[in-house]
Amino acid sequence: MHELSITQGLLQIVLEEARKHSISKVRLVKLRIGELTAVEPSSLTFCFELLTKDTPADGAGLEIDVVPIKLKCLNCWEFFETRDASFVCPACSSFNTELITGRELYVEQIEGD
Ligand SMILES: [Zn+2]
Repeated sequence: MHELSITQGLLQIVLEEARKHSISKVRLVKLRIGELTAVEPSSLTFCFELLTKDTPADGAGLEIDVVPIKLKCLNCWEFFETRDASFVCPACSSFNTELITGRELYVEQIEGD
């Protein structure tokens, strides 16, 4: 399962950050996830609840910020968003486009005490 290994990696970061900031109880974790990562937020939440059992992040809330896929056309300099991951410029139909956002997958913030 794709989300399980991703959650393991993210949780490792959360617990490390908690240790660094002397947080013994994590209350909230904010994640930023690009649409291009194809991570299912509901599966991620499920895995998070499963993996945080008996850790300082047990019972912590999870906030997931989904980042849309944004591209820039290198032919006509149009900026556009896409949902179906077809990277064709809607203005000039060029394939010569550059990804700006959508690949994010990281812990943005943690809160606790
Ligand atoms: Zn274009």
